[in-house]
Amino acid sequence: MAELLKIENLSIHYKISTGWVYAVDGVSFTINRGETMGLVGESGCGKTTTGYGITQLLPSNAYIKEGSKVIFDGTDLVQLSTFPSKKFEGYRKIEEYHPEMRKFRWKRISMIFQGAMNAFNPVYKVGDQIIEAILTHENVTEEEARKRVEELYKLVGIPKDRIDNYPHEYSGGMKQRAMIAMALALNPDLIIADEPTTALDVVTQDRILGEMARLQKRENVAMILITHDVSVVAEMAHHIAVMYAGNLVEKGTAREIFKETAHPYTEALLKAFPSIKGEKKRLKAIPGSPPDLANPPKGCRFAPRCPYAKDICLEQEPPVIEISPGHVTKCHFAEELYGELGGE
Ligand code: SF4
Repeated sequence: MAELLKIENLSIHYKISTGWVYAVDGVSFTINRGETMGLVGESGCGKTTTGYGITQLLPSNAYIKEGSKVIFDGTDLVQLSTFPSKKFEGYRKIEEYHPEMRKFRWKRISMIFQGAMNAFNPVYKVGDQIIEAILTHENVTEEEARKRVEELYKLVGIPKDRIDNYPHEYSGGMKQRAMIAMALALNPDLIIADEPTTALDVVTQDRILGEMARLQKRENVAMILITHDVSVVAEMAHHIAVMYAGNLVEKGTAREIFKETAHPYTEALLKAFPSIKGEKKRLKAIPGSPPDLANPPKGCRFAPRCPYAKDICLEQEPPVIEISPGHVTKCHFAEELYGELGGE
């Protein structure tokens, strides 16, 4: 499969009045065309910042560290739309209205925003909002754009006579589907779906995830699925990247992550989720809470909660180790623990 997106050493920090929040630090991964990558971890671990960092839809206090690369289909989006910060050495500032970036946002990389329920403007009809997105990026008539919305509605299973309804006239599931229709409106190469089904009941969630998987296969779109719900990525993702406290701690195929778990945090995360197919086990909560990213631990960021931690973990940041081709983990004891950890 051809490579579509390569993220290298991406670090995004937020400037606050008391210093910096190290939200994302040294994240690297690649995605091929038509592939799904699940980005998982607890709330506040940097998943959403990583996703939004790709299109650089970040707040004005976000800075990208020099050396970060987001190479999308051969273009480094960091170089394209950021400039060296005059205020903070070693950082780049995002240019808010970069015209070149507009060619990528929505047209080639679209997003299903977290809380799609509230993503539509309540005072405009839903269909008009999708039509507007098409007209902004493509040289088509309003009639052609409307026809495209009708096709998309058919694709996601919304009757076309609902195009002229306002958001409050849609159910939660319909709003999610309309959001998926909007994400597909310009035939993007990549969709970043941020917790796309979190607010929905499990039956609707299952239906929508099934629809997304079908549409993705049909249109050969790559997808980054950001979620805290491990069971969602188990069903959908080819590859999984596990994040903890701004670091990518393990990355591999879905099978490797679930069956050949190599990082203590991944093991803890999997043990905290029920398995429908596996034997019945008591779920284990992860003790403690994630660190304050304004003041992260000096060594391994998971050390205060890790049952395998040793002295070195408190002092030195662990290296990223490739334990088999494409399966990487950030742990001092990766080799010793590989094969020992039981995820499921
Ligand atoms: Fe645990 Fe140490 Fe590995 Fe961190 S480096 S995950 S503390 S064993």
